[in-house]
Amino acid sequence: MFEDARSRLEDVFKVLDIHPDAQARLMQPSLSLQVSIPVRMDDGSLKAFPAWRVHYDTSLGPAKGGVRFHPKVNQHEVTTLSFWMAVKCAVVGLPYGGGKGGVQVDAKALSSLERERLARGYIRAIADIMGPDRDIPAPDVNTDATVMGWMIDEYEQIVRAKVPAAITGKPLPLGGSPGRVAATGRGALKVLDLWAEREERKAEETTVAVQGFGNAAYHFARLASERGYRIVAVSDSSGACYNADGLDIEAVKQAKSKSGKVADSKAGKAMAGAELLALDVDVLALAALENQIHCDNVNEVKAGAILEIANGPLTSDADQSLAQRDVPILPDVLANTGGVIVSYFEWLQNRAGERWSEAQVNDRLDALLSEEARRVLIRAEEESITYRHAAYRQGVERIADAIMARGNCQ
Ligand code: GLU
Repeated sequence: MFEDARSRLEDVFKVLDIHPDAQARLMQPSLSLQVSIPVRMDDGSLKAFPAWRVHYDTSLGPAKGGVRFHPKVNQHEVTTLSFWMAVKCAVVGLPYGGGKGGVQVDAKALSSLERERLARGYIRAIADIMGPDRDIPAPDVNTDATVMGWMIDEYEQIVRAKVPAAITGKPLPLGGSPGRVAATGRGALKVLDLWAEREERKAEETTVAVQGFGNAAYHFARLASERGYRIVAVSDSSGACYNADGLDIEAVKQAKSKSGKVADSKAGKAMAGAELLALDVDVLALAALENQIHCDNVNEVKAGAILEIANGPLTSDADQSLAQRDVPILPDVLANTGGVIVSYFEWLQNRAGERWSEAQVNDRLDALLSEEARRVLIRAEEESITYRHAAYRQGVERIADAIMARGNCQ
């Protein structure tokens, strides 16, 4: 997986004049920590969970990125995700390097107290390499504001000081930012809107299928349907729900809260998750996990465009095959930056001791993303390259400039 991600970096090196020193630095993570987290289970037994924290390049600023709890997490995945964080922070001009963490665990099988012990154990294990000027964790797959609340409490006990800027995505009473929960979905919608505007395409005439119904997918689907886009399908790990006239997203949410399955919703008819990926829609929004479209299913994709809300939902061969078919792809390193942008706003508020209103946060998100995303879309048009290449060029150029500005004698 990491090799696959790195091949995209090599593509950029072929076309951009990046100094060999910066190229060498960008090929590997700068720090990689593997730990084992012992957790006392409710039944008295002890389990040890493997976990990682990786810093990719930190020339632009402290490492920034989420922590995921997932049974399939491994070092390659965390490294790849930290690399994508470095690129995405640079694409939208944030003063951060890349970071990511993961714990190999089926979090859904743990009790709430077991999850809390695990979250606290994770912070004890990485405390030496984190901090508001060093590495700032945040939520990711299967972690949320509640988990961040436990984590910041543990960190503040270790350092014996209040340091809210050490973690973002926190609960509001602990210095969390209004607007953070919906930020990834809101940012993805902004990128879709900007693209639609350039294509002179109206929201009301655009059908969208959304793979996923987690935090990013739900808020994206909700806000996009409020804007007028027709969300015809959503899915989760147990199946999909389809309605050609457009789904009532709140009704699907209620069914999901009740039975845990979107397919149980009466808002549409049940469908297999794989069928959703093959729907003939204007936009396929991928908001679940990585590697969802690969060489075996890419030929079934009929969507007119792809919006990558998850990190890395296409393998690089699927990416190439869609690009050959001229299917526009709004890439993850641009389309899912809303979350980390509002994390940056949370960090700024914590450092200044300020609290912004939700409207202020949303306005600043819109302004920052409009400027940076437009730059990427225009660059792609001017240089006749894909949106992904344009975004990578913008991000990698900025990182390389920071590496070179630090001098030559490492
Ligand atoms: N986990 C999110 C991402 O992949 C957010 C990271 C953050 O807020 O630092 O972009």
